[in-house]
Amino acid sequence: MSNDSSKLMLENKSVWERADAKLRERYFGFAKEYAGFLDVGRTERLAVDRLKELAEQQGFLPVEKVKSWKAGQKIYAINRGKNIFLAVLGQEPLENGANLVASHLDVPRLDLKQRPLYQDDELGQALLRTHYYGGVKKYQWVNIPLGLYGKVILRDGREVDLAIGHDDDDPCFVITDILPHLNKKDQADRKSGETIKGEELVVLCGGIPVDDAEAKSRVKLAVLEHLNKKYGMDEEDLISSEIEMVPLIKSRFIGFDRSFLGGYGHDDRICSYTSVRAIFDVKDPMRTVVAACVDKEEIGSEGNTGMQAMFLWNFLGDLMALNKPDYSEAALRRCLSHTRVLSADTNAAVEPNFKGVHEMSNAGRAGYGIMMVKYTGHAGKSGASDANAEFVGRVRKIFNDNNIPWQCGAMGKVDEGGGGTVAKFLARLGMEVLDCGPAVMSLHSPFEVVSVADIYVSYQGYLAFYQAG
Ligand code: MN
Ligand code: MN
Repeated sequence: MSNDSSKLMLENKSVWERADAKLRERYFGFAKEYAGFLDVGRTERLAVDRLKELAEQQGFLPVEKVKSWKAGQKIYAINRGKNIFLAVLGQEPLENGANLVASHLDVPRLDLKQRPLYQDDELGQALLRTHYYGGVKKYQWVNIPLGLYGKVILRDGREVDLAIGHDDDDPCFVITDILPHLNKKDQADRKSGETIKGEELVVLCGGIPVDDAEAKSRVKLAVLEHLNKKYGMDEEDLISSEIEMVPLIKSRFIGFDRSFLGGYGHDDRICSYTSVRAIFDVKDPMRTVVAACVDKEEIGSEGNTGMQAMFLWNFLGDLMALNKPDYSEAALRRCLSHTRVLSADTNAAVEPNFKGVHEMSNAGRAGYGIMMVKYTGHAGKSGASDANAEFVGRVRKIFNDNNIPWQCGAMGKVDEGGGGTVAKFLARLGMEVLDCGPAVMSLHSPFEVVSVADIYVSYQGYLAFYQAG
């Protein structure tokens, strides 16, 4: 009988223990490139623009420009500026299915309301009303510099893109908070979920009135005059806009040893970036490989840019048409049901202060590799996609065969809470799907934290999955 417990028992091991100096250098180099992407792609639209630029440098062509099927051909498609889909055509017919890695580019933030601008007359301040997007702890969004990003459609149809705060000499915006000296009655006794309430997420945006002493709301008017002079906008134009208030905190390495990377939007731009970088490095795949970076995951994958929309179906249909212009509906359905998917999304990593919400044998740790999550959901696996054993076995084998450090786990203790991903929407199409991505600390905060090692390991894991037969 063998006494070698390492062969029988599954043990968690830090990625750093397996990485020599050369590999560590690669981790840091890759993390730096990723940090650059995170700081440029602060909204889903900007992230799509940057990924498109990188894809074009790698020879990817827009799907409309490709006229016939050629194995190795690199193709991309963009949906409404908020999704990007990339593919490398395989040697096998697409009817056999694709290897797909699906991630999301939207991140929790504060959206402006449709009529956001008002003046507090007693203070002589102009303010913007917001409605938060996705799951946020509202108290985390005060007292930090915010940028104003988005698109406005003017009365005459012209489009204006805003990114105020993006450049270092730009002004920024902020939600102010009460000082500790005076918060005893009005704030300190509130429950933490109400420390700042939804309607209190109002953004300071102006304080100088127009000269005209007779005018009403003179500070608000001054803001509107500024917007008009600079962008040709008036107040009604804000009705047809999508404006996001986004933290301006830049990505920074953390710790004496720089072992972590802090930044805004790891969930889930880390998976979008690593899955796209991985598809760039796929060479002559047997099966067609696809990276899908979508929007609206944080609010349930709804709308025509969310994973529940038909865009992926349409994109695969466009690829089928390259193979066979008169392909049948049945052939496309076979492609869908033979497609294998990693739902590339971040999961919770245990924090030193709140271990109690996790069951430690089934919890994610930052720096312990890509996390395989068989099921998400909450309370009795409700709402989970729940990958089948066969597919978990396949992915596990791919990772083991390629020496990809992995861990497995769930979001928290049974009945503690939960969450979901795009997995179930792809499973509905008949695809095999497993949730798989890095574990993140301070998830959904304005400054999320990942292990530098897990960034590179995610890239390696997605690359190995794409290339598996
Ligand atoms: Mn996510
Ligand atoms: Mn999320």
